[in-house]
Amino acid sequence: MSDTPELHIVGGGMAGSEAAWQAANAGVPVVIHEMRPQVGTFAHKTGDLAEMVCSNSFRSDDDEQNAVGLLHWEMRQAGGLIMEMADRNALPAGGALAVDRDRFSAGVTERLRAHPLVRVEAGEIAALPEDGTWIIATGPLTSQGLGQAIARETGAEALAFFDAIAPIVYADSLDMDVIWAQSRYDKGETEEERRAYLNCPMDKAQYEAFIDALLAADKTEFHEGETAGYFDGCLPIEVMAERGRETLRHGPMKPVGLTNAHKPDEKAYAVVQLRRDNALGTLFNIVGFQTKMKYGAQTEVFRRIPGLENARFARLGGIHRNTFLNSPTLLDDRMRLRSRPNIRFAGQITGVEGYVESAAMGLLAGRMAVAELLGRDLPPPPPETAMGALVHHITGGAEAKTFQPMNVNFGLFPPLDGVRGGRKGRKDRYRGHTDRAKTLWSEWLAQANAGLTAA
Ligand SMILES: Cc1cc2nc3c(=O)[nH]c(=O)nc-3n(C[C@H](O)[C@H](O)[C@H](O)COP(=O)(O)OP(=O)(O)OC[C@H]3O[C@@H](n4cnc5c(N)ncnc54)[C@H](O)[C@@H]3O)c2cc1C
Repeated sequence: MSDTPELHIVGGGMAGSEAAWQAANAGVPVVIHEMRPQVGTFAHKTGDLAEMVCSNSFRSDDDEQNAVGLLHWEMRQAGGLIMEMADRNALPAGGALAVDRDRFSAGVTERLRAHPLVRVEAGEIAALPEDGTWIIATGPLTSQGLGQAIARETGAEALAFFDAIAPIVYADSLDMDVIWAQSRYDKGETEEERRAYLNCPMDKAQYEAFIDALLAADKTEFHEGETAGYFDGCLPIEVMAERGRETLRHGPMKPVGLTNAHKPDEKAYAVVQLRRDNALGTLFNIVGFQTKMKYGAQTEVFRRIPGLENARFARLGGIHRNTFLNSPTLLDDRMRLRSRPNIRFAGQITGVEGYVESAAMGLLAGRMAVAELLGRDLPPPPPETAMGALVHHITGGAEAKTFQPMNVNFGLFPPLDGVRGGRKGRKDRYRGHTDRAKTLWSEWLAQANAGLTAA
């Protein structure tokens, strides 16, 4: 048995399982604390580790043109268990990586239980641990007891129990001949602040047609067990529209304090505002536009907004039961809770979204915890890699005030020099991102591997 102190991981989901695998393979003994099957959630059905609660897809496997495909590639290079089991249990799905969900989780469970350095302890952890080295990876459905303990430590404001996601668009897909930059009433100390919002003007006919489309659009319902009613400040736009045709014009679409820079004499009847969503300025969210419309309906309805006719969406809107931290304020760049550095967070609770992204954050947290237990330091991967782009986003790149869970996408990557923008240059740009990322990931991984074997 190894003399290295144990690493405790709370939650044996996508992130916890991957973190355990990475740590155990580096010679560190691991205890996984998993509450299922004793304590269940509304979405999980089994007691297996790494259960897929909904779709059986790991999304695109294209590692040259797609950011999540690139993340697959990076995880495979790092010996990731989640990717290995996904590959072994893959089902035909075109360019996507779909898996046999039962065999996938059974495979992860068997592999971890068979590892000599892994122990799985059944039961809920409902308090924050005082001592030892811990990773909390309890996911979007973190148990109530632990959620409350985290809220007591971080302050209730810093832990959300629902996401309220407004759609996010790529800056280079916006029509700036229609849109102009201005904060309401030109508020702000600096020129940058006075131009912090992008504004899309609507005349009366456009507004009326937009409300009609909103009311007619297909909506999704809350999952069973997920309902808690809507809460103040997070009403879906279609619910606001149902309350009265003018409600949005007096809410997120109010046209006051703004002058159209392209047509200063025309007063807009309503204005949709976009706000910068990352420090790079490559992504913008549509302010106050959280929605339960189905994805197809969202693109159709939102492309009616003047200036967004050709918008590409980095993510679409939604509202779900989802426990997540305000990571940009709470976590340091080694994914540690600033107020209690013996605790790391990983997976969806850190504000990434999806099976793959959650497993990726588990991989990283596992390796960082190992480095620490072995008296070393592992810096985060460069932001030009998929893994690095995600971790930089959640631990600092994202706007803390409006922080909402995020899938990996090329908008999180630092822009490439000398590659054409816009729709036409897209293929070259994506290829540029993936080529650059692969080189940098390989370099980072070689250095990480060189320092990561227990003595
Ligand atoms: C209804 C629903 C549908 C979803 N659909 C999709 C989808 O289609 N595609 C997709 O990519 N993502 C989907 N997601 C998101 C996906 O579930 C997550 O991205 C992913 O599973 C997160 O991985 P994780 O390891 O962070 O959390 P999880 O995989 O949820 O693992 C967390 C683990 O922690 C355990 N746990 C919780 N609290 C405690 C505690 N106090 N003590 C001990 N153990 C605890 C849980 O039992 C669970 O096993 C969905 C989520 C939900 C809720």
